[in-house]
Amino acid sequence: MEHNISCALVRDLAPLYAENLVSEESRKELEAHLEACELCRAYYHRITENMEEDLMEMARQETVEIDYMKRIRAYQRTNAILGGIVSFLLGALLPVGLLGLSVFVMQNGLSDYHFARLQLIWPMVLLRMALSGIVVCFIYCGVNRMLRRKCVTK
Ligand SMILES: [Zn+2]
Repeated sequence: MEHNISCALVRDLAPLYAENLVSEESRKELEAHLEACELCRAYYHRITENMEEDLMEMARQETVEIDYMKRIRAYQRTNAILGGIVSFLLGALLPVGLLGLSVFVMQNGLSDYHFARLQLIWPMVLLRMALSGIVVCFIYCGVNRMLRRKCVTK
């Protein structure tokens, strides 16, 4: 069979042909040439194998990157949850701390009267602890989210 196009041209066009980016006319010429020319056929097989390897390598790298992102996100989530718990506990301790401080500063110690009173109002104290914990936790989460958004937009 007569070669209408040169081997050099076939090899230049081979990558485009492999990705189906040539015109109908070029495709026919290329196919006819590849059919007839063993050297170009070998060349074409070699580059398509390389392309497949490249694609596989890209896919592998993408998986690695996704894994890395997942690990960072999991780490951030763990951090946020731990921070939330710690801030809640700190917030919950705040009313108790203030109460204790006021007792010691104002009354110079806890008298029996105040102790009895404290026993009566402990559900109130618990409620205040919970509320304070929630407020501090809320503030922590808000600040945390704001900081993270700043990091993302940088
Ligand atoms: Zn050829």
